Amino acid sequence: MPEKGKIIVVGFGPGDVKHITERAIEAIKECDFIIGYKTYMELIQDLITAQSVISTGMTEEVSRAQEAVKQAELGKKVAVISSGDSGVYGMAGLVYEVLMEKGWNEAEGLEVEVVPGISAINSCASLLGAPVMHDSCTISLSDHLTPWDLIAKRLEAAAMADFVIALYNPRSGRRTRQIIEAQRILLQYRAPETPVGLVKSAYRERQSVVLTNLAEMLEHEIGMLTTVIIGNSSTFIYDNKMITPRGYQRKYTLNAEKQPLELHQRLHKNAEPWALVHEANPSQNAQSGAALLTKEPEQKSNSLAIAMEALSRVSGKIPQPADIGAIQHHSETIFEFAVSPGIANKHFTPNQLLALAEAAGEKGTIEYTPDHCIVMRIPAPDPDSITEKLTECGLILSPIGHVVKIKACDFCDGEKTEAIPYADELHNRLGGMELPKELNIGLNGCGMACYGAVMNDIGIVFRKGKFDLFLGAKPVGRTAHPGQPVAEGIEPERLVEMVSNIVAEYKQNAHPNERLFKYFKRAKEIQGFRYQDITPKMNIEPAPCED
Ligand code: SAH
Repeated sequence: MPEKGKIIVVGFGPGDVKHITERAIEAIKECDFIIGYKTYMELIQDLITAQSVISTGMTEEVSRAQEAVKQAELGKKVAVISSGDSGVYGMAGLVYEVLMEKGWNEAEGLEVEVVPGISAINSCASLLGAPVMHDSCTISLSDHLTPWDLIAKRLEAAAMADFVIALYNPRSGRRTRQIIEAQRILLQYRAPETPVGLVKSAYRERQSVVLTNLAEMLEHEIGMLTTVIIGNSSTFIYDNKMITPRGYQRKYTLNAEKQPLELHQRLHKNAEPWALVHEANPSQNAQSGAALLTKEPEQKSNSLAIAMEALSRVSGKIPQPADIGAIQHHSETIFEFAVSPGIANKHFTPNQLLALAEAAGEKGTIEYTPDHCIVMRIPAPDPDSITEKLTECGLILSPIGHVVKIKACDFCDGEKTEAIPYADELHNRLGGMELPKELNIGLNGCGMACYGAVMNDIGIVFRKGKFDLFLGAKPVGRTAHPGQPVAEGIEPERLVEMVSNIVAEYKQNAHPNERLFKYFKRAKEIQGFRYQDITPKMNIEPAPCED
């Protein structure tokens, strides 16, 4: 009886030797017989040592599979070659089908091994950037063995479900209509500007990579050797790279362009109001969701931490949101803003609280922050009706993020009112202005400064009809300190101008994320006010939160 044969179905990856797995190389070398499509055999010819090589035309896949089984039945070790992965529109399935027809089973029949390879969706994605970061699918446009109606239905379903889609076999000499029809279907569900990547002959000699969009994709060459990758509704193009973000979290705030969450905020559970279990409803977490909650975010923040670490090692700095660029989006957004009953007034009315509860609805959150500030986060596609209702009942809404915030005291509940107009004017002029880092201006109406004006980036204290100015407090941390007194007895009519100039200078010259105290220390002077090192001369180890 001849020795039991073996079939190894090998995916050799996109085309160049460096992207073939070690097992695939080994398998190709250990076989006595190699069967594959001509073009592929040429690509791997340097690896072939086998005696018998059969290369056939593209359409002869079934006869290739039959030949492989026949040779293996004769006791040979046979390699069947596919490009990419042999199980993705490749030979693996066909080989099993031929074997099944012959009543093969694993226990008694010949040995079969499927060696995985890098499929076109992966190799092409790597050349485009990172377009397949989220749920994706592959659809072959070849209606050779699949009815077009079914292909069309799949295109529609995938488009509807916002999958990233890799189109294999998009077009051949004879099949030219399918890609046109596919574009028409996709355009019913995706924006014309949806990014599209066209990769031809990835990791082969005639490789070409084109970035285009759904509306214009047909203006470029698409052929048998092209894979077409269609982005989802969040995919964007940045510096010639096609990138799909990991999630859909997005936020925007008042008067600001739509913006991505900052890196450290992404992947937080509270940025995911649509999740089945999340912080907004702690009572749920206490029960079955608790275990899930403690594990998941940890993994997520680890992958973010790894990405940050990698970027900072190559660039020597921590990436800032600005480095990541403006990201357009069409998906669900979170509207985020701070709310207060007034600049001087600290009392909410019951009506205002009702309006806030209504605005937050089932899915929004209302957070009371360490800054004596209420922050609303509401998944809302259209913020205008929310802002309208809340301002109507007398609430003041302010943007969140790296902006100017005016924090006035309550002026002894309206008894010491003289400085209130200055607080109002500072709010009107500077409140919400975007800066390299958040900047709080504290204004207190008497020398008691009981709302802690001097602990703000800019502290202003009204005393005896004039203002005292403090600059560069470090408000948090173990090395926290108040601002330096830089001027006393400022005439009221000069105050707003002076503070505006300080903010303008800081805005223009500070590095991204450089808080005012750091800028003051580095620049040594702001608007003629000299920096003095008044921090205690004792070494305090900086110990940021380790979580
Ligand atoms: N088994 C293969 C797919 C075979 S179907 C795999 O897993 O990749 C053939 C289609 O695959 C082609 O029409 C093209 O869309 C895609 N393809 C295969 N190799 C490619 C490459 N190197 N570059 C671009 N597309 C490729």
